[in-house]
Amino acid sequence: MRNRNFQTKFISATGIRCKACWKCVETCPKDVIGKISFLFHKHAIIKNPGNCVGCLRCVSVCKYGVIGKGRLS
Ligand code: SF4
Ligand code: SF4
Repeated sequence: MRNRNFQTKFISATGIRCKACWKCVETCPKDVIGKISFLFHKHAIIKNPGNCVGCLRCVSVCKYGVIGKGRLS
């Protein structure tokens, strides 16, 4: 199964909790976050992790607590 966790040097997230509101995609100034759609589920993914500058706008904008500061342990 595809790993639904994603991270950059500055943020990490668990896609399975994502509600696909796409706020983070719209907010990210560096086009780091993308969308992925399956038949019954869609969620945010990191498409350009190297572009992340750690502004943390995505963390602030996610109302569902999907994206957090720091890397996954
Ligand atoms: S803001 Fe949160 S819930 Fe919305 S698409 Fe991004 S990770 Fe998913
Ligand atoms: S920390 Fe900033 S640059 Fe990095 S993914 Fe979030 S919004 Fe984009």
